[in-house]
Amino acid sequence: MDHRPPPRPPGPLTTPKRPARPQGLYAILGDIHSNLQALEVVLADARARGCTHYVCVGDVVGYNANPRECVDRIREVCAVVVRGNHDHYCASQTDLEGFHPLAADVAQWTRRTLTPEQLEWLRSLPYTQRVESFTLVHSTLDTPEKWGYVFDRFEAEQNFNYQKTTVCFFGHTHVPLAFEKTNEVRFGLYNKIRVQLGRWYFINVGSVGQPRDGDPRAAYATYNLATAEVELHRLEYDIAGAQKAIREAGLPERLAERLELGR
Ligand code: ZN
Repeated sequence: MDHRPPPRPPGPLTTPKRPARPQGLYAILGDIHSNLQALEVVLADARARGCTHYVCVGDVVGYNANPRECVDRIREVCAVVVRGNHDHYCASQTDLEGFHPLAADVAQWTRRTLTPEQLEWLRSLPYTQRVESFTLVHSTLDTPEKWGYVFDRFEAEQNFNYQKTTVCFFGHTHVPLAFEKTNEVRFGLYNKIRVQLGRWYFINVGSVGQPRDGDPRAAYATYNLATAEVELHRLEYDIAGAQKAIREAGLPERLAERLELGR
């Protein structure tokens, strides 16, 4: 039997077209937590950098005093938003037993403060979403509805088993760690990452509204599709203004204090 492929029909020689390079500068925001002062500074910075797309890894509400304004702003600018645990619990009627008492108090207050239409929007958010060549999730891709925290290699490994895109951005821990998988998983804090072929990345974008890595400045990341670079940005904002809003709303004092500590 002859296994050779049939001869090609004659035709003009053409050079194969190179696929067009993906374009776009994405701003990836997460864990805003109703902190309008921090959100406005982040949005202004992203605009100044020429960001063309905005997406969010969840927790728009909870902890701070401007949930209505933050939901409106995020809906205005973000093409895609995935659901965070605070978005989930603030918009549901389930009891808040598993929640830290501080977070539970604010969740009750947030439920009363948001409009029914805003609550409906929070309830409509997906757990994960693919955007062009990357994925967004609040916690982990293996069991996003269980809200697990990824702080080490083993927790990241579980996630990588379910990751189908080279890059996935996440939030939830409020600590901007990046995990890189080749044969093994390495991780650490980052300023800039050049995404390389043959590697997998699970990248935490830090928290806009309640950083917990000891640095009180607001955090967010950008992803430049043309250069394949992810960059973390830290910004000073009006912490005193956010604290004042917390006190005026009658929310727990501890929530105001932690903003200046970044804890
Ligand atoms: Zn959070």
